[in-house]
Amino acid sequence: MAFGLGLLNGLRYTLSRVLKTYAGDFRHLGRRYDAKEFARRQSVRGDGIITVQYPEEKLAVPENFRYIPFLVYEPALDENGKPKIDPATGKQVIGIERCTACGICAKVCPPQCIWIVRATTPEGKPKPKPAEFYIDIDVCMNCGYCAEFCPFDAIKMDHDYELANYERHVSHIYDMPTLLKSTTYYAKIHPLDWEQEEAARKAKEAAKAKK
Ligand code: SF4
Ligand code: SF4
Repeated sequence: MAFGLGLLNGLRYTLSRVLKTYAGDFRHLGRRYDAKEFARRQSVRGDGIITVQYPEEKLAVPENFRYIPFLVYEPALDENGKPKIDPATGKQVIGIERCTACGICAKVCPPQCIWIVRATTPEGKPKPKPAEFYIDIDVCMNCGYCAEFCPFDAIKMDHDYELANYERHVSHIYDMPTLLKSTTYYAKIHPLDWEQEEAARKAKEAAKAKK
């Protein structure tokens, strides 16, 4: 290659990217980019600007993205078999909390940021459910061990990453009302995991019924 041609070629490429940025912006004049446009721009065939105008624009996170864990509950169902909604809060009514307070997640958690208090009967006998469950989200290192080791699929990794606050001692110690999220939510953010777990659960139930 003639001396300096490589340099010119590089500059030409950079200039074409800059111009395509303006062309792209012109096509989307006054509109925010949607998920489809982000996917196109960030693919190998993408052109123009690849930055995102956060927080107005947000990229969809992949299914295996993990941030803070949450506790899974199965919603109570109405007479049509649909999740019951609490009219006061607009949230699904808790049917079954999956957590049995076995404590495995707290044991395997590397920075030890999970605290569980087991529920008891009025006579003081332990019940297989938590009375209290806390996670210090500033200590959590998002490793996902708790979700991996839980034998009851009761704790899963959330996608919510916008957790900044002005203090940490109250709002960053997540309690049960904050941690509990429904299976509907879990299925929405982890569709493939949900499908596999449901298939495994149904197969187990069928095998049990056969015996
Ligand atoms: S491992 Fe699962 S069932 Fe056991 S305490 Fe943790 S979340 Fe609950
Ligand atoms: S994600 Fe890791 S650090 Fe966070 S609570 Fe679970 S085990 Fe602990």
